[in-house]
Amino acid sequence: MRVLAVGAHPDDLEILCAGTLAKFKKNGAKIFMAHLCDGNKGHFEIPAAPLAKMRDKEAKNSAKILQADCLGPVAPDLELYRDKPTLKKVIDLIRKSKPDLIITHSPDDYMCDHTVTSQLTLDASFMASLPNYKTKRANDVPVCPVYFMDTVNGINFQPTEYVDITEFIKFKEKMLLCHLSQAKWLKEHDNLDYVELMRKQSSFRGLQCGVQFAEGFKLHYVSGRIKPKRLLP
Ligand SMILES: [Zn+2]
Repeated sequence: MRVLAVGAHPDDLEILCAGTLAKFKKNGAKIFMAHLCDGNKGHFEIPAAPLAKMRDKEAKNSAKILQADCLGPVAPDLELYRDKPTLKKVIDLIRKSKPDLIITHSPDDYMCDHTVTSQLTLDASFMASLPNYKTKRANDVPVCPVYFMDTVNGINFQPTEYVDITEFIKFKEKMLLCHLSQAKWLKEHDNLDYVELMRKQSSFRGLQCGVQFAEGFKLHYVSGRIKPKRLLP
């Protein structure tokens, strides 16, 4: 099994689905973690260019813990558009990882980088299956199931599938803590402790399905994306 998770910013996957990725990994899956935006605007003091570099390093450190491949970014923060050049970059990211399953943001998550990431991933994963849609990579890959991960703070998101991540909550925390620049930014900008925030959300989703910690997902229910069995671990 090959799993591609596509988040908007470095750290979104760690907050919303890293427990499930860790569980997939334990079951033998090959994991790809992509972020489409470079994270260059998420700080008061550090300028954009060095911040993007720093966040790239943080994302790679987190992926390394999971022994996952780190892919992206394709655009600066808040400059991610559903245009042809960007679609081609996302198609190549999918053609490179050849996923059997994709996880991405919910189409109605809280801000544009998240919603555009969702749209780009859905569209590109269809286009990646068409040999006549030419990009840098020649191979086409089959259309695969897409799961939407929880929204930020779980707002307006009713999961239809849950993954028990109790065994992986510490590991998830360790991955999230690789994003040191964000810990500082969220504390100063929003007065948030992001580890506490992640634990609260995982705990609440756990409460809903009768375990200590869980992550919630919704399958993108459209033709060609549905399989007659459970795919999440
Ligand atoms: Zn984000």
